[in-house]
Formats: sequence, structure tokens, C-alpha cells
Amino acid sequence: LQTETDDFVICDRVNNILKPRNDFSHKGTYGKVTIVAGSYGKMGAAVLAVKSALRTGAGLAFAHAPKCGYEILQTSCPEAIFIEGGNEIVDTISLQEDCVYGIGPGLGTDEKTKEAVLEFLKNNSKPLVLDADALNIVAQNQDNFKLIPKKSIITPHPKEFERLFGETENSFERLELAKKKTKELDIIIVLKDHHTQIITPEGRVYYNITGNSGLAKGGSGDVLTGIITSFLAQGYSEEHAAILGIYLHGRAADFAAEKYSKEAMLPTDVINEFGKVFE
Ligand code: AMP
Ligand code: MG
Repeated sequence: LQTETDDFVICDRVNNILKPRNDFSHKGTYGKVTIVAGSYGKMGAAVLAVKSALRTGAGLAFAHAPKCGYEILQTSCPEAIFIEGGNEIVDTISLQEDCVYGIGPGLGTDEKTKEAVLEFLKNNSKPLVLDADALNIVAQNQDNFKLIPKKSIITPHPKEFERLFGETENSFERLELAKKKTKELDIIIVLKDHHTQIITPEGRVYYNITGNSGLAKGGSGDVLTGIITSFLAQGYSEEHAAILGIYLHGRAADFAAEKYSKEAMLPTDVINEFGKVFE
């Protein structure tokens, strides 16, 4: 049930997680994010994720994308640093040890992209965020699951969840399966839905009450990937990064719906409301 009291209590909890920004800080204080995203025709996914990372407080954001996205990214997001990883698709992913990675939006599942993603996962043991095509790639072979670094956060929508772990009859069964898999793989699963669920390896389940059907549009998930990666890079625990991120994403969407309506609001409008949520 969503009541005023619930909303108040949850707001209070989220406030307790959010760390105030330190006056005597510099960009190094707030972490480095690398978003690996985009392919020819899907550069918007990279833009949305990178912008979301920057608008949620990360110190530096790198956009690791194919060359065809160079001008698009540098123009629409001048604060980000471009790293070229292929021509029209990402076919190489370099590892920067001091970055937290968010991989997947708009990548596509070309054979070369697949090899690059799997190779990257083999070389990196730090928790990261996997979404969209990164999950579709992992889902292609059960052996790939063991490459997901422990404590990583994966953000499947119901269809992606099904590709990863198989079909379930209803949302109750899906949640039970997710609980089993979080424990087995030692990862956090963010089961995206109307009430998104965050499931931890310890068996905790959080239901989100923010957000609305105005988010049912291409690009909404890419925004979420950028946000959660940013909070991880800023030093929040995996669980807190997920809670903060999902709450903020939905709350910003609620502000965007008030302003533009659920029909007209776009993922970009959601990003532009982050400031109000922080306030
Ligand atoms: P994706 O399908 O990857 O673009 O992700 C969609 C995002 O929008 C997820 O965070 C969902 O939880 C959210 N979303 C989509 N539809 C709805 C809805 N009807 N109500 C609330 N949130 C939604
Ligand atoms: Mg998505």
C-alpha cells in the first residue's frame, strides 16, 4: 500500500543513506564511472546512461562507445570523456582499474561485442552493473554466469530475467527464482517492474514505490544503469547504490509526470528532475 506515511518513512530511510557532499572535496572524491554502451543507431542509450551518471554526482564519467558515437556523445554530453572501443559496435573494452563499470545499454549482441564483454568480465573482478545487451550476452551460455563478479548488480526487465534464468508462471515464482539466483551467484538482482524489486544475496527484498507508467518507454532503463553505476563509483555499498538509484529514478519520473504528463515525459525529462529529488 502506498500511503503518505509509507512515503515519508521511505524518504527518511533514503535520506539516511545519502551522504552529504563534502565542501572540501574534489572530483577525485566522487569516483570514476565508465559506461560501456551504444552501437550504430543506439547511441542515445549511451548518452542517457552517461548523463545520468554525471547528474547523480560522479566525479568523472567515461563513455566507452564505438567511433560512430564520438560526435554525438561529445556534443550532447561535453562533461564526459570519450573512449573509442570499435567503429560501429563495441569490439574491445579496455580495463581502467580505478573505474566502476556499467555495461550494456544499446550495445547489441554482435559476435565481436559478445567476445569483448566476456573477455572484459574475465579480466575484471570488481563489482559492476550489468544491464540490457550485456545480460543478453551472458544469458547465451550458462558458463558465462560464473564470470559475473561477486556483488555485482544486474538490472533485468522481466524479459531479460527470463532469458537469463528461464520462464516463470507469475511474479511470485519470478521473485522466488531471483532469490535463489542472488544467493547462488552472490549478486544483487534488480528486477525491474512497476514495483521494482531489489533482491540481495542475504535474502532481503526491497519493493520500490516510486515511478510510474511514464517510464514505460525506450531509454528508461539506460537512465537507471547510469544512476546505479554512479552511486557505486561514489563509494556506496552495492545494496545502498541499488536502493538509492531505484528510488531516485522513480521519484524523478514522478516529478517529470507532474510536469509533462505520463504520456509526454521522456527519459531525458527524468534526468532533468534528479536535482529536485536531491533537494
Ligand atoms: P527498460 O525496460 O530496461 O527500459 O527499463 C524500464 C525502466 O522503467 C525500469 O526501471 C522499470 O522499472 C521502469 N518502468 C517501466 N514501466 C513502468 C511502469 N509501468 N511503472 C513504473 N515503472 C516502470
Ligand atoms: Mg533496458
